Amino acid sequence: MYNYTWYRNFSPQTIAIIGGGLSGTLVAVNLMKNATTPLIIKLIERRKEIGKGIAYSTTIDGHLLNVPAGKMSAFADKPNHFLDWLQANGHHNVTENTFISRKIYGNYIQAVLEQAQANAPTQVHFEKITDEAIAH
Ligand SMILES: Cc1cc2nc3c(=O)[nH]c(=O)nc-3n(C[C@H](O)[C@H](O)[C@H](O)COP(=O)(O)OP(=O)(O)OC[C@H]3O[C@@H](n4cnc5c(N)ncnc54)[C@H](O)[C@@H]3O)c2cc1C
Repeated sequence: MYNYTWYRNFSPQTIAIIGGGLSGTLVAVNLMKNATTPLIIKLIERRKEIGKGIAYSTTIDGHLLNVPAGKMSAFADKPNHFLDWLQANGHHNVTENTFISRKIYGNYIQAVLEQAQANAPTQVHFEKITDEAIAH
């Protein structure tokens, strides 16, 4: 009989995520944080930078988020995560009611991804593929 448990423990699963904007990047982050078995994550993004998508790729400081900083944490269970990151990265005057630039928010999402990669268990492998996913 096929031993599924053995297979699960030793052979990594591969998950491909198409689109490395906000949602795809946070899916990758949560997979890295919660993986309990060997896992290969492939994040396919056609833009050079991941984590930003259309909304957070802007380089213009005046392009602000339409939601205040106190409500833009990447993690529902850590509502102050974005605020804490801002404080730790030199934005000392912000409060939960400040509207931060979308550019900075993109940097935050990238930092969240880097942190998740740094903390990922050794059995989790993350790979970014810069390309366009197409049907064939
Ligand atoms: C101008 C603008 C301003 C916004 N401002 C706010 C705001 O202030 N606050 C807020 O909460 N929301 C805002 N939004 C909404 C915001 O886009 C979403 O909150 C969020 O970014 C959506 O995430 P997403 O991952 O679905 O899409 P995106 O972040 O756009 O990511 C999709 C990614 O998929 C990639 N992709 C698509 N097809 C392929 C393919 N075939 N192969 C490879 N890569 C592919 C794209 O290049 C892109 O990077 C704004 C949106 C826009 C357009």
